[in-house]
Amino acid sequence: MRGMPPSTGVVRRDRIAGVLLGTAVGDALGLPREGLSPQRAQRIFGDDVRHALVHGRGMVSDDTEHTCLVAQSLLAAPDDATRFAESLAWKLRFWLLGLPAGVGLGTARAIAKLWVGFGPSSSGVCSAGNGPAMRAAVVGVCHATDRSAMRSFIRASTRITHTDERAERAAFLVAFATAYAATRRADEVVPAMFLRAARTAVWDADEELSGILTVMEEHVARGVSVQEFASALGLTRGVSGYAYHTVPVALYAWLSHPGDFRAAVTDVIRLGGDTDTTGAIVGGICGAGVGASGIPRAWIDGLWEWPRSVAWMNDLADRLAPQFPDDGSPPVSVGELPLAWPLVLPRNVMFLAIVLGHGFRRLLPPYGGGT
Ligand SMILES: [Mg+2]
Repeated sequence: MRGMPPSTGVVRRDRIAGVLLGTAVGDALGLPREGLSPQRAQRIFGDDVRHALVHGRGMVSDDTEHTCLVAQSLLAAPDDATRFAESLAWKLRFWLLGLPAGVGLGTARAIAKLWVGFGPSSSGVCSAGNGPAMRAAVVGVCHATDRSAMRSFIRASTRITHTDERAERAAFLVAFATAYAATRRADEVVPAMFLRAARTAVWDADEELSGILTVMEEHVARGVSVQEFASALGLTRGVSGYAYHTVPVALYAWLSHPGDFRAAVTDVIRLGGDTDTTGAIVGGICGAGVGASGIPRAWIDGLWEWPRSVAWMNDLADRLAPQFPDDGSPPVSVGELPLAWPLVLPRNVMFLAIVLGHGFRRLLPPYGGGT
């Protein structure tokens, strides 16, 4: 079995593709339900989580786009966090010019600051939103075996848009979980052991995060559902975009089903709220564990995307894998992967029309279950 790490079972390239495609699939599946309570989402879309954005197909939002921008910047500057941040800041500037339909408030303000001349280390705004966490998994899989590089790249990526340390700790936890999943078999992921390792890894956890990790430990020990854990955090009407809500719930969903991509993503999306981001984060972490080959084929085939197509994301994985080997072999740089950017604007205009259509759809029956 040449080229296959003996202890982990899934080949490295498949794990990296699993993060990219897992993020895209979770994002696309969650997007139609974004902002709805679990009750209302269930009444409109039913219990089954499937592609439902446009004629049974799915499209991706900022979560996947930023993950791809981070991946491109990792190729541009694989071992220098400062140059990585400069590259990512430029990609974010032009991303905003493409008129994306969904952009978090903190992220929009920070990119506006980049455009008026702030550098990537001073453009961030004080926000504890989940923007940095939603793009963190790809850093985790690429720097899976280098904790200090993971930490400095997460810091660099976070500070471009968010200065609140809670946003950075949450993003680090996503990267840490992704690295954890990427370096073992799924059946070796023991929730209590992961949580103990996470507590040590986040060395500067504040009181709130420590308390949440304790609640997670208690719930994991009882083996209860992610729904019950979310209720304990007060999230019965949907998971919020606050980093300390989004990330613990996403981690819990993954820990409940580390080897079952479909179950983990379905469970977290059924909780409602910021479902594209919770779906994307769980998809990224779980994708690192099971690999792209462990993601339901119909979910990948159901993506309707360009220029960031499934084939393009596979090309990204093809380049990242030799650049970030995990077996001690020297990195082989194959350079950046360009994007057919002239297609972005027409794609985004169509995407905006589809998303607006969903907004109107929500004004119609069946009602019940709140927003
Ligand atoms: Mg989104």
